[in-house]
Amino acid sequence: DAALSRAKETGKARCVMYSPRHSSPTEDDISLEAAMFQAVREGEFVLHYQPIVDATTREIEGFETLMRWKHPTLGMVSPARFIPIAETNGLINLLGAWALKAACVQLRQFQEAAKRPLYISVNISPRQFRSDKFLEVLDDAISYSGLSGDQLVLEITEGTLMIDPAHAETILGKMAERRARIAIDDFGTGYSSLAYLKRFPISVLKIDRAFIRDLPASQKDGAICNAVLDLARHLSLSVVAEGVETEEQMAYMRERGCRYVQGYLTGKPMAANVAIAALTERHYE
Ligand code: C2E
Ligand code: CA
Ligand code: CA
Ligand code: CA
Repeated sequence: DAALSRAKETGKARCVMYSPRHSSPTEDDISLEAAMFQAVREGEFVLHYQPIVDATTREIEGFETLMRWKHPTLGMVSPARFIPIAETNGLINLLGAWALKAACVQLRQFQEAAKRPLYISVNISPRQFRSDKFLEVLDDAISYSGLSGDQLVLEITEGTLMIDPAHAETILGKMAERRARIAIDDFGTGYSSLAYLKRFPISVLKIDRAFIRDLPASQKDGAICNAVLDLARHLSLSVVAEGVETEEQMAYMRERGCRYVQGYLTGKPMAANVAIAALTERHYE
């Protein structure tokens, strides 16, 4: 605190207070951005996998691929931090293409360990979805990994669909031709009408963690979850509840017909070798 009051007195100390690491987000973002290009070269980006499980049997049905940046000095940088920067500078196209292909290859190893079919879910950013190269990237990932399209789920947000609905319709049609499934990520948090559920070939709704967090206490969240489950049933969509952290939340959703859950309760995002251990471990029930 003495240092702080001195800092207020002297220009030099103030400069320390406003040093790059603690400066405006913009400057921070610029240094992070520079570090990102370096990070790509150094191979600091890795993929973690979070189990998506059957709410009744707790069996792992698939994994969501979540990108991680292991910075040598900053430690783990959150994707909530670096994805928006990559989205702005276009690096997301490179990172996203890599993630899609690597995740598809990884799924083959997961299936060998599990000795049964699984699926892999991959986040597609708005810019990636709108890129001219996107279908090429998708085809390359499918053919290189030897997966069939139906083992792939692509997670997009309502916002991605709404930027250019006509273009989205074309791309989703092409995805459907490849039998890849489309999941609406963070369902219910975007500013869009439900009309797109009729227009586009959607397979999965992922209920955002914001609606799960305060269950079972929150009657409003309960009502929203029930309405989504009802809607999904009538439209033959499957539902994944995101961010399930407690047995009570899991039971609440399961009892109301939610087939799949994803959250810290049933598995945090984990490195591939840890996921393989989870798939091969024996269950004594
Ligand atoms: P998202 O797609 O909604 O991913 C789910 C986020 O919720 C992940 O955060 C996950 O770690 C976290 N999560 C899962 N279960 C729980 C839980 O029980 N409690 C809590 N508190 N959190 C839980 P993460 O990994 O930090 O990723 C944040 C966001 O970054 C993602 O949100 C997604 O929008 C973006 N992202 C991550 N990886 C990629 C990627 O490869 N490509 C793109 N385009 N975006 C990505
Ligand atoms: Ca997601
Ligand atoms: Ca989500
Ligand atoms: Ca989210």
